[in-house]
Amino acid sequence: MGELIPFDARDGQIWMNGELVPWKDARLHVLSHGLHYASCVFEGERAYAGKVFKLEEHSQRLIDSARLLGFEIPYTREELDRATMETITANGLSDCYVRPVAWRGSEQMGVSAQNTTIHVAIAVWEWGAYYPDLTLTHAIFRRPSPETAPVHSKAAGLYMICTLSKHAAEAKGFADALMLDYRGYVAETTGANIFLVMNGSLHTPIADCFLNGITRRTVIELAERRGIPVIERHILPEELDHAQEIFVTGTAAEITPVRAIEDRRYQLGPVTRDLMDDFAALTRAG
Ligand code: PMP
Repeated sequence: MGELIPFDARDGQIWMNGELVPWKDARLHVLSHGLHYASCVFEGERAYAGKVFKLEEHSQRLIDSARLLGFEIPYTREELDRATMETITANGLSDCYVRPVAWRGSEQMGVSAQNTTIHVAIAVWEWGAYYPDLTLTHAIFRRPSPETAPVHSKAAGLYMICTLSKHAAEAKGFADALMLDYRGYVAETTGANIFLVMNGSLHTPIADCFLNGITRRTVIELAERRGIPVIERHILPEELDHAQEIFVTGTAAEITPVRAIEDRRYQLGPVTRDLMDDFAALTRAG
């Protein structure tokens, strides 16, 4: 997967502020508001056989995430869609990850940033399975309340507690952290939504303080198509013990079965397997 080559030292083309530039020239100044004050939003997308799965929804979410942080992306959804496809083609890829990012520039260096220019870039690269063997431990941070942060924005700043939680989990030998929300209910992992299979039904937390993932919404549709009841509700951490199967969903994670949470182990069961098959068929169909 080439993960060992630093991301700023690779070859290819990156779309930046309206044009394709050589990968190594896609730079920003160190005095950028987005870097200092996290006035930055991003997306994560996947292309399958040359087509980005749910591209329009991702481009729209980038625009919406920016609006939640008080800034307007200077491109329409259609322009972002076109720029994404242009970037994939320019890099000669067909199955890849796509990373659009938008941030406030350098005109102001303080908390206020009303007069900053908005920058947008789109990079693409090959990226295989996100979670080859998913084991979870409880996170050291909780998802904040909607009164504490713009929780429905895919904002860079909200990932601070994710990186810290993931590092703490990795230090204990786990692949990732399971985050509770500010009330103590099960929320999500540091980069994916979570589903429990309980007696033939799917249970998933209400997305009222974290990202209502595009993959999460797709999986709910796929389950309903199969006649599997889907129950969105508050889930207490004690209930995880009573699930027969657990999986997570996300653009990078796709549908990944959870092998263990702390010392409780789970099998890859029939409901997860069926949904993984349906999801693979859907992404292949484009
Ligand atoms: N939660 C978090 C914190 C994420 O980073 C992601 C990945 N974008 C998701 C959930 C899943 O969202 P999606 O299915 O839209 O990729």
